[in-house]
Amino acid sequence: MATSVNTLTDQAYQQCTSPDCGATFDTGEVLTACPQCGSLLDVAYDWDRASVPDSLRWFEQKWARRNDPLCRSGVWRFYELLPFAPPEKIVTIGEGQTPLHLTDGVGRYIGLNPGQLFLQYEGMNPSGSFKDNGMTAAFTHARTIGAKRAACASTGNTSASLALYCCASKLMQAVIVIGSGKISYGKLSQALDYGALTIQIAGDFDDAMQRVREVSEQLGIYLVNSVNPFRLEGQKTIMYRVLESLGWEVPDWIVVPGGNLGNSSAFGKAFHELHELGLIDRLPRLAVINAAGADTLHQLYNVHQVRWNDGRPDSATIASYFARLDSAATKADTIASAIEINRPVNLTKCLRALDWCDGVVREATDQQILDAKAQVGANGFGCEPASAASVAGARLLREEGVVAPSDRVVCILTGHQLKDPTATVAYHTTDQDEFNRVLGKRGVSRAAFANRAVKVDNDLDEIVRAIQLNS
Ligand SMILES: *Cc1c(COP(=O)(O)O)cnc(C)c1O
Ligand SMILES: [Zn+2]
Repeated sequence: MATSVNTLTDQAYQQCTSPDCGATFDTGEVLTACPQCGSLLDVAYDWDRASVPDSLRWFEQKWARRNDPLCRSGVWRFYELLPFAPPEKIVTIGEGQTPLHLTDGVGRYIGLNPGQLFLQYEGMNPSGSFKDNGMTAAFTHARTIGAKRAACASTGNTSASLALYCCASKLMQAVIVIGSGKISYGKLSQALDYGALTIQIAGDFDDAMQRVREVSEQLGIYLVNSVNPFRLEGQKTIMYRVLESLGWEVPDWIVVPGGNLGNSSAFGKAFHELHELGLIDRLPRLAVINAAGADTLHQLYNVHQVRWNDGRPDSATIASYFARLDSAATKADTIASAIEINRPVNLTKCLRALDWCDGVVREATDQQILDAKAQVGANGFGCEPASAASVAGARLLREEGVVAPSDRVVCILTGHQLKDPTATVAYHTTDQDEFNRVLGKRGVSRAAFANRAVKVDNDLDEIVRAIQLNS
């Protein structure tokens, strides 16, 4: 490999994702784009130097050593597949202890045969979302280069995760930039409780993202948004755990909500690398689900037919799409706040993942998302609205016949139910004003699976009657 000295390990380097450029950089450099052409960067590996096992089963022996934090972490027990940092520099807080659950109830809702629908419950991470998988990796990288402050723009979960790693490790100060009004209290409360320096701007996520890039540049603060290629390395491990739970068998479909498109990009890279290494014999298909109110990927992929195209996606079409968003001052708008993003920073990497994984893109309305979320909850797996886009999307694909009833489908539940209780309570409420205030304005007209509280007087007989009538 033509690469410069790699100060962190001799196995990894950074590489431009544009095949026309392909420039490589030391992993000790802090970059969020290729300095030569502006494309996104990958963390790439010299696999001949890495100690990659012959079989994925090899990783099972780490379970026996789970008193070692690096074997217990659901991210770092796959160290051999992301060896960019020296092990002694790794910062772990026990992320990635997340199970895959067979859930026939949700499978029935989607239209799948029994035994075919699995939920990967990333809400069970230390900060309650999948973001911890990436944060442990970016944070580790930040530490290796000696960063003292780390920043992100966030719709809520990235900031909660960053704030947690900062206060648990005491290695850095967290600086978070959020938009006004949109962030849920569940997420904001985490950032505040964990002591992050919280800057709230008058603007939305896309505005916050642009500002935090400028501020990090100006003040030399380490940026942990998913333009950071190291974050995506940690997020690859979500797929390793899915495979592990399925006895290392590749499912037919991975379905994931699409916001900034970091997850979908990381999943594609995970499978592509495993395939290149001969550790899996085929790739699953990937379905990325936008919210209808934040559907840039859907518009570009399905309406404008933009494709990865061997690393030369149609940049003119993409640019004119964003120019139209700007001139119409279009803002993303969905109840699924974690994916309320119109300018996904990982767009081109996601196109690559869709290419590798024979992918599809769909959009789900807030109505479809909330109904799917209620079904997830009714089967014992609370998630926040954005996460349920995966289940809503799987259902649409099943209806279209793109997914067959006999397909084995894994939906990623990206964040925990308690992240955004406002949406859940409004869905189940008996109070029409409350329903309208939170949901009606977003085109949600009914709560098909509402579990409404029964209101009675403070009277024993009435309470008894209400229980008898309803059970
Ligand atoms: C960040 C986030 C997403 C979006 O993931 P991307 O990688 O940005 O596409 C979806 N759901 C939840 C709960 C999130 O926190
Ligand atoms: Zn480049």
